[in-house]
Order: sequence, then structure tokens, then C-alpha cells
Amino acid sequence: MDRPHSHTYFKKAQALMPGGVNSPVRAFKAVGDEPIVVTRAKGDRLYDADGNRYIDYCMSWGPMILGHGQISVLNEIRKAIRGGTSFGTLCPNEVRLAGLITEAYPSIEQVRMVSSGTEATMSAVRVARAYTGRDKIVKFEGGYHGHSDQFLIKAGSGLTTLGTPSSPGVPAAFAATTLTLPYNDSAAARKLIAEQGREIAALIVEPVAGNIGTVLPDKGFLETLRELTAKNGIVLIFDEVITGFRLSLSGAQGYFKIKPDMTTLGKIIGGGLPVGAYGGRKDIMELVSPEGPVYQAGTLSGNPVAMAAGIATLREIGSNRQFYEDIEKKTRHLVYGLNDAAKLAGKRLTINTIASMYTPFFTATPVRDLASAMTSDTKQYARFFHLMFEKGVYLPPSQFEAHFVSMAHTVRDIDRTIHYAYEAFRKL
Ligand SMILES: *Cc1c(COP(=O)(O)O)cnc(C)c1O
Repeated sequence: MDRPHSHTYFKKAQALMPGGVNSPVRAFKAVGDEPIVVTRAKGDRLYDADGNRYIDYCMSWGPMILGHGQISVLNEIRKAIRGGTSFGTLCPNEVRLAGLITEAYPSIEQVRMVSSGTEATMSAVRVARAYTGRDKIVKFEGGYHGHSDQFLIKAGSGLTTLGTPSSPGVPAAFAATTLTLPYNDSAAARKLIAEQGREIAALIVEPVAGNIGTVLPDKGFLETLRELTAKNGIVLIFDEVITGFRLSLSGAQGYFKIKPDMTTLGKIIGGGLPVGAYGGRKDIMELVSPEGPVYQAGTLSGNPVAMAAGIATLREIGSNRQFYEDIEKKTRHLVYGLNDAAKLAGKRLTINTIASMYTPFFTATPVRDLASAMTSDTKQYARFFHLMFEKGVYLPPSQFEAHFVSMAHTVRDIDRTIHYAYEAFRKL
């Protein structure tokens, strides 16, 4: 496919911005293609600068659960904009969104809005450190919690793809306070906490890992983490930036029925605008300034337009009793189809899926942690990505990402995707 307009923009972008992008995986380095420049999106489709259209399974990396350009969301954004775009004061939309979040998440008694998932996780850890008076934190290998210094230790996604275990620029002293564990390894967690539990402020986990591709928690894993942290006075933080409002209205914690002490949210709660949030038990959250001494602020935090997009998205989800059933049905249809197509074509894949997220790993090994995810044949994924791309299907441009199905995905487009996947598998 010829994409002269995308090519021209990308060339200019490369001169003006590092790698030509404002977030690394967008540069397509992991799949060896040149990125498209998208000018418009609607429903389950992206449209590039050359007028090509693509069925989208990246969905802006997670926020667009209703699909692109969903009409009620656009209307609420328009309505909000008519009133002005930023006040720098408390506004009604903040109160509304905070109400919707705390109502859906019984574990979140109080919430603070920020502008990204990165800010949410970094602030949550600061509060947990203040609350416990301890410095160390625990995260899991391949777990991605945004790009703040303390989390760039064995982080997933772009970092896994690029093969950088951590990043230069992170002081060794910061890195030393972050302990890492293999995902799904309850015994390792038990051992580490037995040894260092008294020095650990927080344990942060993606209840379903999404940044090494979709990886589900083994039965009992999250329960073990809950038990160990409670016993040792460690703040359990569920990073639900992806899973919040994705797995269920009450996220992964509702899905698995586990109550964390703190939760971080992002992506879906902004409905496609920049919003993050962190919250949790009141006795922890009341440490946050100005109620308490832990400083955290933001010029555009609680922005009225961004809040409106989030409110409209959550209301749209909440107004449909069948929402999660329907979107899971679509996803299952796609994943069964992909599995069948792979079998017919004689390809061995491991497709992990839950609710409306999935990842086809190009490995026959079950994928349950970073090490097993890394057994994937990334060259095959790149070839698969390319073949699908040429047919007008836009998959995340890296093996180690979650693929997302939205409410706007049509059965026709999903069937078409399965058909193209079959053709692609046969060519691999
Ligand atoms: C995307 C993501 C983040 C970071 O959110 P940004 O809005 O990109 O800063 C944090 N945690 C998880 C689990 C994520 O998927």
C-alpha cells in the first residue's frame, strides 16, 4: 500500500520530534514498518492521511471502549466546550466524575483527578510511602505503571520490545527502592515479603497484566497478594489504568472480587481525553494535600472538558445492562475465530483473553509471565502485523501489547479480520 502523505508527515516529524513521535511504540520500530498518520477515526475504523481505512484493534491503547467518535461523548464534549475549556477552580464535572468512580469502586472512598496514568501511579506510590513511612515498593516484571523513574525497572510494553530492561537517567538510588517479582509467582512474593515486608510501602500490580500482552492472574495469585500485603501493613495498589471499566464497571477488583487499598485509573475514564485518577481508603487519601501533607497538584487536573468526556463514557457504559456481556461476546467471537484460523493454517499460537482484551502470542508456550511472553517469535508477529496492515487491519505495532475490542466493532468487521488472519497465518 502506498502512503505518500503519511510518509511525508512522518519524515517531517522525524526532524522535529525524537523518533518522529510523542510516545515510542507509535513509531512502529517493533514491527519494522513506517507508521500511518491518522487524520480521523469513527466507530471501529481509523482513516489515514492517504484516505486508507483500517479496522482498529489498538483503540488508542485502551481508552476507546465505546469506539471512536461515539456520538454521546462528542455531544458532551461540545456542550462542555461551550462553557469554556479550563477554569482552574472546582467545577461541577469533577464532582460528577468523582461520584461515578466512587460509586462503581467501593474500595475508592476518595479520589484525586490527574491528567495521565503516569501521574496517577506516581502519586499513589508517594501517598503510600507517606502513609507507611517506608521507602521500598514492589512491582512485577513486565508490569508497566507509566514512565516515572521508580517504575522503569523491568517495565513492559515499549521497554520490553526495545529490550531495555530499564532506562538511563534513572538514579541508581531510585532503582534500588523498587523490588521486582515474576508475575503469577505467589511463592516468590511470599519469600520477598517475609524477608523485607517491614520496609515495603506498597505493592503495585496490574490485576490483569496488559503491557507484556494480555496475561491473566493465576487462580489465587491476587488473593495471595491481598493476604500478604494486609498482614505486613503494605499498601496494595491495583493499577487499573487498563482494566478499570474494561473488565467490568468495577474493573478487575469487581471481576475478581478483591479489595485493594488504592487504585489507579486512566484511559477509559477520560473517554479519549487526558484523564487519570488515583484513590482508595479514606484514611490513606486524607494524607493528600490540602487535607494532608503529601503534595500533589495539576494545572489542568479535573479539566471540565476532559471530565465531560469521561462522564459521558461511563454513563454510556452504565446505561446498558448488557454492555460487558455484549462486548465480551464480540471478543470471544474474534478470539475463537483467530484460534480456528491458526489451527486450520497449521500455526501454533497462544491467545490470552479476558473481557474485551486479548493478545495473540506467537508461541506454543502458555503465557503467564514476562519470561513466557518472551518466548514469542516477535519476527512472526511483525510479519503478521504487516500482512494485516496491508489488508486494512490495524493491530498494536508490537507483540507485547493488549488488543482491544470496542462496542463499535461490527460482526462484519470481526469476520473480515478473522478471514484476513487466516490468509496471513498461511503465509507465515
Ligand atoms: C497506560 C498505562 C499507564 C500510564 O498511563 P499514561 O496515561 O500513558 O501515562 C499506567 N499503567 C498502566 C497499567 C497502563 O496501561
